[in-house]
Amino acid sequence: MLNAAFHISVAHARDLPSDSLAEVAFAGRSNAGKSSSINTLCNQKRLAYVSKLPGRTQLLNFFRVEDGRFLVDLPGYGFAKAPKEQQMQWQSLIGGYLARSSHLAGLVLIMDIRHPLTDLDWSLLEWFRPLGKPVHVLLSKSDKLSRGPAMQTLAQVRAALLQAELPATVQLFSSLKRVGVDEAENVVRGWLGTPKKGQITGQYSEQTAEQTAEQTTERDTTVPPATANIVDENGAKQNV
Ligand code: GDP
Repeated sequence: MLNAAFHISVAHARDLPSDSLAEVAFAGRSNAGKSSSINTLCNQKRLAYVSKLPGRTQLLNFFRVEDGRFLVDLPGYGFAKAPKEQQMQWQSLIGGYLARSSHLAGLVLIMDIRHPLTDLDWSLLEWFRPLGKPVHVLLSKSDKLSRGPAMQTLAQVRAALLQAELPATVQLFSSLKRVGVDEAENVVRGWLGTPKKGQITGQYSEQTAEQTAEQTTERDTTVPPATANIVDENGAKQNV
């Protein structure tokens, strides 16, 4: 469990905390389960609901794990009805943040397992790509699928990211059933440099986090299909 407390909300990239040493950003489509994931990782019921308070939904919300070490809750994206102006504002805030935060260690991307890799998820990944920083995908609400389809989606998302040459790790996650919580926590801790007692930081812990994620998600050793059927936002299948 990560011990986090609300620190600050930021409206402009120029107002980012100056004492930051390491940040892990959380991003995802609205309703993907981002707030629930942060709350579950921090073992708190309402922590990330700060980000849902009126006036806070379009801000960067910082949660302090240790001095100078933060989780950064990025505004959810993809409200179909969001006015163009709001979409532009979102882009400039997130774009500014991603470009300016030299302390950003990695991105946790939350995607509803039933609707992974939407166009907006790809856009975010493309923005993030030039930074050369690691991405860890939580396929959230994994309790919504039975084991076979969940494992199949896991393999498809991995294959699609591999094909796009995006170096990302992917795991199943459920806040409801507490699936994948330890693996996700290990990845975040490895990036923040806040090990659990007995966990070693640096190169070794990165390997450990990845190995752990792969072990628990039981990576399919069969060759992934060259094309993956990904269901888009409207539930339509598309080839990736
Ligand atoms: P956010 O908009 O991305 O922050 O999403 P929320 O965390 O608010 O979750 C959106 C909806 O999905 C809510 O109704 C949650 O109760 C539900 N939800 C979140 N996580 C899970 C999960 O692990 N399993 C299930 N079944 N529902 C979830």
